[in-house]
Amino acid sequence: MVYPQAGEKPHAVCIPYPAQGHINPMLKLAKLLHHKGFHITFVNTEHIHKRLLRSQGPHSLDGLPHFRFDMIPDGLPPSDADSTQDIPSLCASLSEHGLSAFRSLLLKLQEQSQDGVMPPVTCIVSDGVMAFTVDAAEELKIPEVVFWTPSACGMLGYTKYRRLVEDGFTPLKDEALRSVGGNLWREEPGCLPWLDSKEPGSVVYVNFGSITVMTTGQLTEFAWGLANSQKPFLWIIRPDLVASESAVLPPEFVEEIAGRGMLVSWCQQEEVLKHRAIGGFLTHSGWNSTLESLCGGVPVICWPFFAEQQTNCRYSCTEWGIGMEIDNDVKRDEVEGLVRELMEGEKGKEMRKKAMEWKAKAEEAIMLGGTSYNNVDKLISEVLSSID
Ligand code: UDP
Repeated sequence: MVYPQAGEKPHAVCIPYPAQGHINPMLKLAKLLHHKGFHITFVNTEHIHKRLLRSQGPHSLDGLPHFRFDMIPDGLPPSDADSTQDIPSLCASLSEHGLSAFRSLLLKLQEQSQDGVMPPVTCIVSDGVMAFTVDAAEELKIPEVVFWTPSACGMLGYTKYRRLVEDGFTPLKDEALRSVGGNLWREEPGCLPWLDSKEPGSVVYVNFGSITVMTTGQLTEFAWGLANSQKPFLWIIRPDLVASESAVLPPEFVEEIAGRGMLVSWCQQEEVLKHRAIGGFLTHSGWNSTLESLCGGVPVICWPFFAEQQTNCRYSCTEWGIGMEIDNDVKRDEVEGLVRELMEGEKGKEMRKKAMEWKAKAEEAIMLGGTSYNNVDKLISEVLSSID
């Protein structure tokens, strides 16, 4: 291993799993490390690189001084930048082809560092799902930090899954499986000015994340439930939200909600959840969405889809007191009832109070001396001490 020279920046190679909910937290961690003085190489798959260029603009990946983007192939046949990658095929392909692609990238970076283009690689920061990076790190004797993006409760759940399968509890015998899609979009402007025109705490925000898909029937039930609640709402409908067809809403629904409902295909969710007009969030309980909702002090209605979202939903509803769960077999009357309860009921008020308490705790955690603040400092000193 080549050690950095005195005064040279430490160099972290950050590699997320190629999906929105993994890229976002890795990017945040990479920015923190950059802020603390690291040189960063942020590694996307070629497919994600192409999508980001398309959605964020041709210069979006030019980087900053000491913050560079790079890429590796994911092993799948090239596909259109707007097309959805199938998650199980992507996982299989990465575990087969990821190691050699990542090893080549690290060797290229080592060569570049010998040419003085960048500091030598000090550590790898890899998404826990990208297991092949551990083999590359061991081979090239580079320390690796494994970054898990799901919630702590979800991670604990994962550790029990093997046992549940061995004991025959899962898969459930009558489970109807919803299929899996995924995309990265250009943000639509207009949501924030629209929210500015609304009363504080009056708007229901609806977003099922980047991967969840549903049937036309489920979409229609959500639509009429929202319309019948009579509450203003902002609903993010990705073009591929409905499995194998485009998401089409009944024309009567669109007429009915005119002026009260706003429909767009992608938004700046963190900004939306911090907006004073938002009173509640109908979510799929993705961990990023759950955290962003807590940080905005916004209570939730949960309709979990896959991965550890069911666990996040359970914790939101029964442990943290900020959520209510909607039946998997969604019906418009239940949507209407829960939305009314969330926005104007006693339970809704209690949940909002709890969510505000969590928001205060989250703010405390990231302030100087807070738990998250200290954790980042601890991570950095551990990484740096591993190269002393
Ligand atoms: N997101 C966004 N705009 C949208 C939908 C989602 O910015 O219209 C972001 C959201 O803020 C979150 C991520 O995409 O950071 C979704 O991650 P999450 O873990 O909630 O769900 P996933 O997409 O992985 O199912």
